[in-house]
Amino acid sequence: MKWNKVYLKLSLTMFSLFLVILVLLSMVINQLFSNFYTKKAHEEANELALHLSVMLRDRIYAVETMAEFSEASIYLVNGQGQFLDMSASTKQKKIQAWPNVWENAQLLQGKQIEKEFTAGDQLYLLHGIPVHSSKNPVIKGIYVVSSLEHMIESIRSVRYLIGLAGFGTLLLALGCIFILAKKLSAPLVEMEAATRNIAKGELEVRLPVRSHDEVGSLSSAINDLAMELKRYRDTRSEFFANVSHELRTPVTYLKGYANVLTHGLVDHEEEKQQYLHIIADEAHRLTVIINDLFELAKMEEGKMAFHLESVDVRRAVEKSVNKVRIKAEQKGLQLVSALETIPRCFVDPVRLEQVLLNLLDNAIRYTTKGTIKLTLQQENGFGVILISDSGSGIPANELPYIFERFYRVEKSRSREFGGTGLGLAIAQKLVQLQGGTIEVESAMGQGTVFRLSFPFV
Ligand code: ADP
Repeated sequence: MKWNKVYLKLSLTMFSLFLVILVLLSMVINQLFSNFYTKKAHEEANELALHLSVMLRDRIYAVETMAEFSEASIYLVNGQGQFLDMSASTKQKKIQAWPNVWENAQLLQGKQIEKEFTAGDQLYLLHGIPVHSSKNPVIKGIYVVSSLEHMIESIRSVRYLIGLAGFGTLLLALGCIFILAKKLSAPLVEMEAATRNIAKGELEVRLPVRSHDEVGSLSSAINDLAMELKRYRDTRSEFFANVSHELRTPVTYLKGYANVLTHGLVDHEEEKQQYLHIIADEAHRLTVIINDLFELAKMEEGKMAFHLESVDVRRAVEKSVNKVRIKAEQKGLQLVSALETIPRCFVDPVRLEQVLLNLLDNAIRYTTKGTIKLTLQQENGFGVILISDSGSGIPANELPYIFERFYRVEKSRSREFGGTGLGLAIAQKLVQLQGGTIEVESAMGQGTVFRLSFPFV
């Protein structure tokens, strides 16, 4: 049996505590009953002795009868300290058998005597009371000796009952404590098994949440952990599949066209130039993907340094707009801006520009005709930048996924435009790491609006 089990430790602790309480309580009860019985016996004997001493003053003969009824023995003492009227031989014997018990001298001095003594293996109570009787001048004192055996018997039976009740309670407590401890520790055992399974990679494990206390919330925390790990594992595998796919495509082109060229399978110079262009494009594409991936990895590991400072967002937006103006005009698009003067925001100017250029690039890329509009305004302590276009729009069912790595709405079309599917993932990460938010709204055929917000300084 393994002793380092929670339920055993819990049971043992609770049981020991219970045992200590029970023993203390039994001791107190025992003491209370002992005191009660002893006091009662003393009171009864004392009362009897007093009663007899009063009776002795007038009717000496009734005393013997009285003593017989009360199961006590009486002994009379004269002025010389000798025992009187001890005709019954048993009494005489007792007087001789208990030589050190009598306190005649004290009694004759008028003192009351009360003491317990043991003779044989019995306990007795002795009361001595001085007597002053005009009718019986010979009698100077009376001893009443009563056996305390019946009192001891009563205490013994009380002790027996306490012991019996204690033993019963102890057994009951042991059972209850054991069941309770097992019940309390059962979820912990389940959790231990579940976490070990999670560590082995079984991420479908779910624990039942049976209560709303700390144990219940620990179970649901373990469930959340398993779910989060599963999501992480799934997205990681998906991510690696995407990475290898994205890298394989340009590499296949590179290999293919390089082969054609090395084997001299081109008919004329123009064709050769065309292939060389494709090779250069694909090589560039590979570089972009690798750089993007590297940037994302750095951000996710928290290794990308941000230099947050107080920035005039209006100027930053104007700078980005100027950078993409030619590109937009070349495509025949109108680029307009409505920029309010707002308080300075706490951002990294280089990263803010990177995000703006990325969103503006996308807007130009996915818009064939119309306008691209930039708006800057303030809302509830935040600087808000809106980048709206009149492009193709994004289908509502795809909208929730566009910030995922490698997610592209129209796979082939985006590739055609030179997209990697990493731009928005990077933009979102950059915005979040600067304490801002990025949201998107889109209507098919009408256009898309990206909304950035950053806190003021
Ligand atoms: P990509 O490099 O392919 O543009 P992004 O992460 O920047 O990757 O964008 C993800 C996808 O979201 C794109 O493939 C595109 O389909 C869609 N998208 C992004 N911006 C716009 C926009 N302004 N209008 C329409 N679709 C967009």
